[in-house]
Amino acid sequence: MAKHVLVTGGAGYIGSHACKALKAAGYVPVTFDSLVTGWEQAVKFGPLERGELADRARLDEVFAKWQPVAVMHFAALSQVGEAMKEPGKYWRGNVAASLTLIEAAVAAGCLDFVFSSTCATYGDHDGVMLDEDTPQTPLNSYGASKRAIEDMLKDFGAAHGLRSVIFRYFNVAGADPETEVGEFHQPETHLIPLMLDAIEGKRAALTVFGTDYPTPDGTCVRDYVHVMDLVDAHVLGLQWLEAGKGSRVFCLGTGRGFSVREVIDHSRAVTNREVPIVLGDRRAGDAVKLVSGSERAMAELGWQPVRSTLAQMIGDAWKWHQSGHYDR
Ligand code: UDP
Repeated sequence: MAKHVLVTGGAGYIGSHACKALKAAGYVPVTFDSLVTGWEQAVKFGPLERGELADRARLDEVFAKWQPVAVMHFAALSQVGEAMKEPGKYWRGNVAASLTLIEAAVAAGCLDFVFSSTCATYGDHDGVMLDEDTPQTPLNSYGASKRAIEDMLKDFGAAHGLRSVIFRYFNVAGADPETEVGEFHQPETHLIPLMLDAIEGKRAALTVFGTDYPTPDGTCVRDYVHVMDLVDAHVLGLQWLEAGKGSRVFCLGTGRGFSVREVIDHSRAVTNREVPIVLGDRRAGDAVKLVSGSERAMAELGWQPVRSTLAQMIGDAWKWHQSGHYDR
């Protein structure tokens, strides 16, 4: 019998890549998406159920129809800048909506839950290597909302037997090398796609947010992970839950940080084109450095981030930008 997995946000960047990986691993991904920030064209690997997470009746209907073995919860608001200005949107859109989803999953007896969390739950820690035990002290409402959902999952685990695998992502980048899906946000706020747009002349320039950070070149340092590596971890996390191994938190990073300037230099090399830049002020809510090892994910899940070199991430994102699918 087909194993259905309910993928919230399956029409979004990471969710659509996860659907591809789930299909390749023999599951049927059922996308649940409002299509507010997701793209219907990105739903290629299984059925689409359009709906809002806040709509409990709609969720109940979808759980009853597909009887999913698990939930993968990607749907979220995820812009730090917006979260600083409109925290209420994040508490309602991320925390309250996820509560409705978790309650619907428990009511449907679907007790395996994979959650997309973030290194933004950590805040600043003086540049130390972060791991699963580092205290979570978020700097913005986006990180705070994701931390609250993590807490909810733990409480529902204790009270209702919900089993969760929580992945704290570092900076997700790149695209499906076969260009079936890729990164497309509207508005776009992420470094690599904005930079590629600037290279292609679709924007005047990339603004570098802050050049006076306490880092070797003054720009922020991030740990970039290839989206296909990241979604591989989700399939392993699902299999971990199916094997009855119980709730666990895993960081997904590479242990290697790159500054904004280093990313720009690599992009110049990969595309062989100039990157028009403007030096700007710091962006509110940004941590100086977010880097994590993934010893736990490697040791316990057998995860290997084999595609997460800057050259491949930028190369695959560039291929996607030039594929024609990107210009929707
Ligand atoms: N960044 C930048 N200019 C931009 C977008 C991002 O300098 O137009 C910087 C940002 O300040 C951060 C890094 O690039 O240090 C990665 O930002 P992104 O928004 O891609 O991911 P985040 O770290 O916020 O998850």
